Amino acid sequence: MTARIIDGKQVAAEVRAEVAARAAALAARGVVAGLAVVLVGDDPASAVYVRNKTRAAREAGVAVFDHLLPATTSQAELAALVQRLNGDPAVDGILVQLPLPAALDAKAIVDQLDPAKDVDGLHPVNVGRLWSGLPSLVACTPLGVMRLLVASGTRLRGAGAVVIGRSNLVGKPIAALLLAADATVTLCHSRTADLAGEVGRADIVVAALGRPEAIRGAWIKPGATVIDVGVNRVDGKLVGDVEFAPAAERAAAITPVPGGVGPMTIAMLLANTVTSAEGRRG
Ligand code: NAP
Repeated sequence: MTARIIDGKQVAAEVRAEVAARAAALAARGVVAGLAVVLVGDDPASAVYVRNKTRAAREAGVAVFDHLLPATTSQAELAALVQRLNGDPAVDGILVQLPLPAALDAKAIVDQLDPAKDVDGLHPVNVGRLWSGLPSLVACTPLGVMRLLVASGTRLRGAGAVVIGRSNLVGKPIAALLLAADATVTLCHSRTADLAGEVGRADIVVAALGRPEAIRGAWIKPGATVIDVGVNRVDGKLVGDVEFAPAAERAAAITPVPGGVGPMTIAMLLANTVTSAEGRRG
């Protein structure tokens, strides 16, 4: 069997077109959805990501307010900016680019965000609402994973889903979303006793561990859907967490790296910003 390739670029373009239409509907009523992006320090990867976000937002008709702060910014200065953005009616979404410089307490900053503007879905109120089955802002990469699963035509209800990685930003929210979609979810991590066995039983595999090709192709159950969230740089090339070629021999559908989950994250960030604008001002 050779897997269908799930084209993240194409699905992301569809999401961005939907966002642009919703942003235009808001604009017709005099509301311009606004996203504030806060970047502290000069991490080059973060800077590229922020630039890409800004361009995609402008193309979708979402206003972007960039706040590029020096690495020497204090906790109090950053907290004051967050408070100002919380109170700014033109700002519907606030994204504080992580990781923050080591001297800053990221959790304290996230806790200070207005949950209604928390487009990364990290505030404890949004996390609690997600796990309680209530409407909430949900982290962008997990939303992108779900959208790709839907686009691939994969049946979620009753499916066995294995998520590898339990981070607050990726693995845990993916598990919550799959559970809400009636999959039977197993959440694996670095202490999982039999990772190969868990993966081998899964109808849906979502790999988010950040270890190049750690999920071996031979583990994949024939006919499974494989979503590879991993982005690892190996010898100057981007490599996923799944051993792609042998996995694609067994899977029914699989995402490539790059061109799978990656393009979805920014698209879902814009979707979250417009959702927030509709909720607050629509
Ligand atoms: P993270 O915070 O480092 O979490 C990694 C998780 O994987 C942890 O829960 C860890 O377990 C688990 N893990 C590590 N080694 C493992 C192993 N050998 N076997 C099983 N589990 C293992 O990473 P993250 O932020 O969630 O990101 C995960 C990956 O997704 C990274 O490659 C990252 O670059 C990528 N990513 C991509 C996007 C995108 O837009 N495409 C967005 C975000 C992240 P413990 O909890 O036990 O330590």
